[in-house]
Amino acid sequence: MSRRKKCDVIVVGAGPVGLVAGLALQKKGISSVVMEAEPFGRERPGSRAIYLHSATLKLLEETATGLGFTLARNGIIWPVKRTLYKGKEVYVRNYGPTNNKDSHKLPHFTALHQDEIEKYIYEECVEAGVQFSWDSPVEKLVIEDNGVVLTTKSGEEWEAKYIIGCDGARSVVREQAGIKLEGPRTNDTFLVVDVKEDEENPLPLERIFHYQHPAMGGRNVMFVPFKGGWRVDLQLLESDNPEEFSTINGVRKWLPKVMDSKYADRITWVSTYRFHQVVANSLTDEKRRILLAGEAAHLFAPFGARGLNSGVPDALLAVKGIETAIRANSEDERAQAIDEVANERRIAALWNRDGSSTALHHLQGNAPDMNMKRELAASLVSVIPRLGRWLDEGPYGPKFGPPELTTKY
Ligand SMILES: Cc1cc2nc3c(=O)[nH]c(=O)nc-3n(C[C@H](O)[C@H](O)[C@H](O)COP(=O)(O)OP(=O)(O)OC[C@H]3O[C@@H](n4cnc5c(N)ncnc54)[C@H](O)[C@@H]3O)c2cc1C
Repeated sequence: MSRRKKCDVIVVGAGPVGLVAGLALQKKGISSVVMEAEPFGRERPGSRAIYLHSATLKLLEETATGLGFTLARNGIIWPVKRTLYKGKEVYVRNYGPTNNKDSHKLPHFTALHQDEIEKYIYEECVEAGVQFSWDSPVEKLVIEDNGVVLTTKSGEEWEAKYIIGCDGARSVVREQAGIKLEGPRTNDTFLVVDVKEDEENPLPLERIFHYQHPAMGGRNVMFVPFKGGWRVDLQLLESDNPEEFSTINGVRKWLPKVMDSKYADRITWVSTYRFHQVVANSLTDEKRRILLAGEAAHLFAPFGARGLNSGVPDALLAVKGIETAIRANSEDERAQAIDEVANERRIAALWNRDGSSTALHHLQGNAPDMNMKRELAASLVSVIPRLGRWLDEGPYGPKFGPPELTTKY
């Protein structure tokens, strides 16, 4: 008798994308398990996905009634965004009073720690009865015509019709399926620091972006509030030694130059990044038994918050494709159902990569044409206010270029 366990779909990885996939499968009544390498209750690093767009909240609300509203209610909305160039304000927008407590309308966005996001999605999973296998690192996949045999590090074997690989940047599922990530890595180093808010005397909720902060020797600095804390992004110069800035003592030296010194004792996470701008060459394998979702499928710089916001639709569409494939009447129909979702999400990933590449190009200090455009835009803001908006949108990937400048140069 076979000791292999069986189900229709195995989700590999219980990060936020895997949780969403597990939840959607369970809601559709498709037999599934979520396998996670780490033990239950593990610590997760840093705030990371602190910005969820309304489109993501809507998708989550449709997946599990109440989930979108729970995330909205437990996050914050910053009503003001401000951009400064070499210390001079070039753009400010105040959206006025905000309301994230409305139980009838989802807000424009919500901002909370990724740990919290995962906690609320996990609670929905538990309520829906999603099956988890913690402490089960997946090591090997044998992909056959009729399904996949998966082996964990402890030698446990599982058989499934489909696998959704949500196992993040170093995805074993991707590697076992022979799929490659394609694209460049940035040269610039970014430092990401989380600090805990002082709830008795909090800062105003404003997202503030400084081009060439005068107190930081001309380095770019961004402040983004989220529920209970702040994320401070510092873009290092090419000549900087990242270690000097990124040790706790290093951060304690520079942080008080840009924030009240009390925040130097409130640091909860420091990390340095050189971002990958990569997309898998396919989101499915040759036999159409694997689908990749989230960071297993693509990695982008976080400017524009495209990571988890695109991981959620990846997961939901993967589930939809598998649902159609399970009901298909022929092999062609089945393969087509998988291909369609894989292609759709790859196109989205490429589009997102272009968006964050535009943002990076806008931010990078080593592009002479962009340096000149930014400098000129900042100097002309008082006569052409919309250049301020162009500067403000830079860190997200501007939707339009500054036509006045393009015609001049
Ligand atoms: C600084 C920073 C800021 C960001 N800001 C935003 C933002 O504002 N908005 C946004 O949308 N996104 C943001 N992101 C991106 C977001 O954090 C990621 O897109 C998101 O975490 C990806 O989720 P995931 O589930 O795909 O992968 P992960 O979170 O990496 O989860 C993968 C899971 O798979 C497990 N796993 C790995 N290997 C195996 C294996 N062999 N077997 C079983 N399990 C395995 C891991 O343990 C992990 O639990 C940011 C990222 C960074 C770094």
